[in-house]
Amino acid sequence: MIIVIKPHTPRAQIDEVIAEVQKLGYDPRPIFGTEQTVVAAIGDERTHHTLESLNALPQVETVIRVQKRYQLVSRESHPADSIIDVDGVPVGGPHFGLMAGPCSVESESQLMQTAHAVKAAGATILRGGAFKPRTSPYEFQGLGSEGLRLLSLAKRETGLKIITELLSEVHVDEVAEHSDILQIGARNAQNFQLLIAAARTGKPILLKRGISERIDEWLLAAEYIMAHGNPNVFLCERGIRTFETATRNTLDLGAVAIAKKESHLPVIVDPSQGCGRADLVRQMCKGAVAVGADGLLIEVHPNPAEALSDGQQQVSLEGFAQLVKELQPFLQATGHST
Ligand code: PEP
Ligand code: MN
Repeated sequence: MIIVIKPHTPRAQIDEVIAEVQKLGYDPRPIFGTEQTVVAAIGDERTHHTLESLNALPQVETVIRVQKRYQLVSRESHPADSIIDVDGVPVGGPHFGLMAGPCSVESESQLMQTAHAVKAAGATILRGGAFKPRTSPYEFQGLGSEGLRLLSLAKRETGLKIITELLSEVHVDEVAEHSDILQIGARNAQNFQLLIAAARTGKPILLKRGISERIDEWLLAAEYIMAHGNPNVFLCERGIRTFETATRNTLDLGAVAIAKKESHLPVIVDPSQGCGRADLVRQMCKGAVAVGADGLLIEVHPNPAEALSDGQQQVSLEGFAQLVKELQPFLQATGHST
């Protein structure tokens, strides 16, 4: 860290800062300028006490952090792309992860019809919410345990791997038993106790970006999971809240490019929550692949007009098959296999 001392600070007060830096376990290297002095503090900021508390000293102008706060998720610590094994299906690096299925599991026939169709179109992972985080308590909350049972049935029938949302610590064991990837939703993106509980299951985790979460906060949330012993984390961009109302959220493809630079973790894009409009999903998928996404999480429904949640953004079975076809040149151009 670098501590900037206020101009014209007497030497005795500069020495006070130097002594404090030393006391906190760093090697202080003062640089005396004609007007101003800075103290470079040599030492690992992640294993030492933070020096940001020195801002409290009246002679300190500012404390500047040099190292990143996330270590395990950072590309510096792991330059190669991480590849995650989803119960035998690799995702990351050259392996594109195509995850698709309904927003909510609604019935056996709805789920099975969707599962067979998305598999035939090329998906390898089936999505479907059993426990749903709904804005209003009067909206469909999901089938809960029955939804999980149906997801397991779909896995047995089709061989597709399962991703479903973990909404609460109370459901950890039950949801882990029926899924191959635990989805942490945007509303729980910084629910750290839930992240720790999810990490401990050892299952791969898809961590959505919070509705108004900065990229560094998103990466630090992923760091929580890795710091608790689980390296199998997917970062998922699903749109953020902005002033724009033409789309439900603003899909931040710039964040995907940044996450790929900053981190070795695979990045998945959810264009469905991302723009909230079925008519834009195809274009958003192409854009996502072009900026370097490692996978897509797409809402697909046999009859979107009758969906119990997010009908406006779910693509039809035929629409999904067409989308996958149109995606092929983009996947080839970016060196991906599905
Ligand atoms: C979903 O995937 O259906 C969902 C609720 O996602 P998010 O947490 O991104 O809103
Ligand atoms: Mn949804």
